[in-house]
Amino acid sequence: MDPEISSPDATAREVSGPTPVAGHEESSHGRSRLYRLLHHPVRPIALLVLAAFLALAVLWTATWNLGRVEHENARETAETTSRELLDTYEAQVFRVLQQMDQTLRSVQYAVQLRGDGRTAFDDLNDRDLLPPDLIFVVSVTDHDGNLVATNGASLLAGDADDDILDLARESHSLVVGQPVAVGDEWRLPVGRRLTAPDGSFGGVATVEVDPTFFVSGYEVSRLGRDGVVGILGQDGVFRARRSGDDVTVGGRTDYESVVTEQGFGDTRTVLSTNEWDGVRRYTSARELYGFPVAVVVGISENEALAPADDRTSTYVARAGMASLLLILIAGVLAWMSWKLDRVRRREGEAQVAHARRVEHLAYHDSLTGLPNRSFLGRLLEDRVRLAGRYGQQFAVLFLDLDGFKQINDTLGHDAGDDLLREVAERLEATLRDSDVVARMGGDEFVVLLPTIANADQVASVAQKVIDSLAQPFVLLGEQFTVTASVGVSLYPQDGADVQALMKNADIAMYEAKEAGKKAFRFFSQWMGSESRERLDLEVSLRQALVRQEFELHYQARRDLDSGRITGMEALLRWEHPRLGTVKPAKFLPLAEETGLILPIGKWVLRTACRQNVAWLADGLPRLSVAVNLSAAQFFDPDLLDVVASALEDSDMDPELLELEICESILARDTFKTVPILEDLKRLGTRITVDNFGTGYSSLTVLRGLPLDTIKIDRLFLRADAGNAMAHEVTDALVAMGRSLSSSVVVHGVETREQVDYLRSHACHQVQGFFFDRPSRATDIAVLLRGELVTAPSQESF
Ligand code: C2E
Ligand code: CA
Repeated sequence: MDPEISSPDATAREVSGPTPVAGHEESSHGRSRLYRLLHHPVRPIALLVLAAFLALAVLWTATWNLGRVEHENARETAETTSRELLDTYEAQVFRVLQQMDQTLRSVQYAVQLRGDGRTAFDDLNDRDLLPPDLIFVVSVTDHDGNLVATNGASLLAGDADDDILDLARESHSLVVGQPVAVGDEWRLPVGRRLTAPDGSFGGVATVEVDPTFFVSGYEVSRLGRDGVVGILGQDGVFRARRSGDDVTVGGRTDYESVVTEQGFGDTRTVLSTNEWDGVRRYTSARELYGFPVAVVVGISENEALAPADDRTSTYVARAGMASLLLILIAGVLAWMSWKLDRVRRREGEAQVAHARRVEHLAYHDSLTGLPNRSFLGRLLEDRVRLAGRYGQQFAVLFLDLDGFKQINDTLGHDAGDDLLREVAERLEATLRDSDVVARMGGDEFVVLLPTIANADQVASVAQKVIDSLAQPFVLLGEQFTVTASVGVSLYPQDGADVQALMKNADIAMYEAKEAGKKAFRFFSQWMGSESRERLDLEVSLRQALVRQEFELHYQARRDLDSGRITGMEALLRWEHPRLGTVKPAKFLPLAEETGLILPIGKWVLRTACRQNVAWLADGLPRLSVAVNLSAAQFFDPDLLDVVASALEDSDMDPELLELEICESILARDTFKTVPILEDLKRLGTRITVDNFGTGYSSLTVLRGLPLDTIKIDRLFLRADAGNAMAHEVTDALVAMGRSLSSSVVVHGVETREQVDYLRSHACHQVQGFFFDRPSRATDIAVLLRGELVTAPSQESF
C-alpha cells in the first residue's frame, strides 16, 4: 500500500504534531550506525569487561611464565648442584678407595716379596706402611679363608668371609664385598687377590671399613633432608646410602637404571623416582674409574623446587590480589559508566520530552489540547495534495457555537473555558479516530473528515455533531444549552485550496446561523454571493474613513406648534464608490462587530460639531445637533475625551450637543451608565433617550438617569390612527416621557393623521419624513436660510 494513501489516518487525532522530526531522522540516519556503536548503552561496559579480561589474561600469563621460569631455574640449579655434588662425592670416594687400594697393593707386593703373609704383614707394620686400624683394618687371609695376619681386630676374620674370598679368587683387580653386619656395626671388605709363588690363588688381602664412612660427608645444607648420596656396587647393592640422617647399608636397586652413563662422557642428571625409597630426585650417578662401584647423588625434587614453589605461590597470590583489584576497578568503572549512561539517557529522554512538549504547544490549543489553526492548516494542505493526486473527496466542517458570548459574559471566562473543553470532548467522542478536530480560537472549531463517500454521509456526521452539542451543559452547577451552527465545504467542488475551503465552510456556517442556528448548511455558490458581499463590505469599510467616503445628513426636528426647526439629528451616510449611498442599517452592525465604529463615531462627532459652528458662523439660527452613540461608543473608556476634544476643537457650545443613546443601552446596567452620563453632563452636553419604549425599562430605573430629552420610537406610530390600543400606548409613553424629562420628541412621523393625533395629544416636538427627509448640510443651510425669511405657517402641517 502506498504509504501516502494511508496518511489521512496518520494525521488522525492521536498524532501529536506535524512531522517536522521526520527530516531530522533521515539526516541523522547516516551517522546513526557509528553513533549507535559509540553510544550503545552496553558497549562501553562490554569494552571495559573485555579490557579487564585482557588485562587478567596478560597478568596470569605473566604469572604463569614467571612460575615456569622459576621452576626452570630451580630445575637447572638442582641438576647443576646434583652434578657438582656428584663430582665432589666421586673425588672423595675415589680418594678413599685409592688409598685402600694402595694399602692392598702394598700388602700384595710384600706378600709376593716375602712369600708369607705373616712376615710380609709384620714387615709392613714395622715400616709403618699400614694405616692406623682406627679406620681401616687390614688383614691377610689364606686361600682357605683363615686369617693370617691383621693390624687390628678384624671383625670379619674367621667369619668365613666367603664372599670376598670368592670375588678375589675370580678377579685380579680390586673387589668390593657385600657389607656385613657385625653386632650393631657394619663392615665393608675391599680386597685384592694374593697369588702363591706357583701362581695359584694364595688368599686375599682385605681392608675393612665402616661403609657409613663413605656417606659421612652428607651436607644437609646442599643436599637437603631428602637428598641422597650413596655408593652402589655393580651388583646393584648399595654399600652405603644416606638421605638426611637416615643411613642405610645394603639394599638393592637396578644398577643399570641408576647408572645410565657408563663411560666418561658428561654425566646426565635424571629426574626420576628413586626405586629404593620412592622419592623423586634429580639423580646423578657415575661409575668410578677402576673400581666396581658407582657413586650416586640425588636432590629431592620437592626440596629443590620448594623455593620456586614458594615464589610462584607469592606470584599467584599477588596476581590474585591484582586480579581482584582489577575486577573491582573494572566493576566500579562499569558501574559508573552504566550510571553515567543512565543519566545521559535520562537527560536525552528529558530533552526529547521537552522538544515534544514544545512542539505540542506550538501545534495544539492549550485549552482543549486539540490541534490548532496552524496544525490544521498543515493537515489540510497535505489532504488537498493527496486527495488531488488520488482523486479523493473530503469535507471541512466549520463549527461555531451559538450563544457562547452570553455564557462567557454572564458566567465568566472560567465557565466559558469549561464549556469549550467539554465541547472539544464531545466532538472527539462523536467523531471517528481518523477524523480531525481542531480549534480555531474563540468558539470556532473545524472538523476534517479526511475520506468521505458522499455528501449524505457528511450530513449525518454534521447532524450528529449538532445533536451531541445540543445536550445541556452543566456550568457552575446549572444546566445551560449551547447549540452549534455548522458550515460544510467539500473538496474538490467547493474549493481547490485550503483558503477557499475554509472560507466557504465559514460562509456556509454564517448561512446556518442566519437560518436560525442549531443547523448545518452545505456551501453553495448562491450563498457565497451574499456573504462575499459582507466580506467586501468589511474590506471597503476599513478604507472608507481614509478615502473620506462618509458624509453626514441632517434631519430637522420641529416644534409642532410653530413649525420652526428646533434641532438637527446627524445621520451617517456612506458614499460607497460602487454601491452608492449605503444606509447605517447596512454597515453599522459590521462597524460595531469589527470595532470600526469607534474611529467612525469620532469622525461623526467632530464633523457634526464643526457643522453646527459653521452654520452659526453663516448667520444661521442657533440650533442643537443630535449625534447617535452606539453601545460600543458609549462604553468606550475614551468617550469623554472624544466628546470633549470634538467640542474644544470646533469651539462649539456644549449645550447645543445632544447625545442620543438607545434606551436599551442606558437601562442595561445603571451602575455603569449613570457615571458615564454624569460625566457627559458635566461637559455640558445634553442626553437624549433614543427609541424610547423599545427597551421596556422600568420607570424607577430611568428615573435615576440624568436625561434631557425622550425620543419615542416611530414604531408606536405605525399603527393607523384608528387603532385605539396603539394610541393608548403612545399616550402612555408620552406621559412617561414627560415625567422623566423636560422635552419629549416623537420621531418617524410620516402621515397627516399622525401629526393630527400628536397635536391633539399635546406632543410638541416631532421629527419625520412628513416634514423633512435627512439631507446634506448644504441643503439644510438653504432650508434654514429660507426659514429666516418666512416662518412656516401652522397650516402647512
Ligand atoms: P435612529 O436613531 O432611530 O435614527 C432615525 C432613523 O429614522 C434614520 O434612519 C432616519 O432616516 C429614519 N427616519 C426619520 N424619519 C423617519 C420617518 O418618518 N419614517 C421612517 N421610516 N424613518 C424615518 P437612518 O439614517 O437610516 O439611521 C438608522 C439608524 O442608524 C439610526 O436610528 C441610528 O440609530 C443609527 N445611526 C445613524 N447615524 C448614526 C451615527 O452617526 N452614529 C451612530 N452611532 N448611529 C447612527
Ligand atoms: Ca436617533
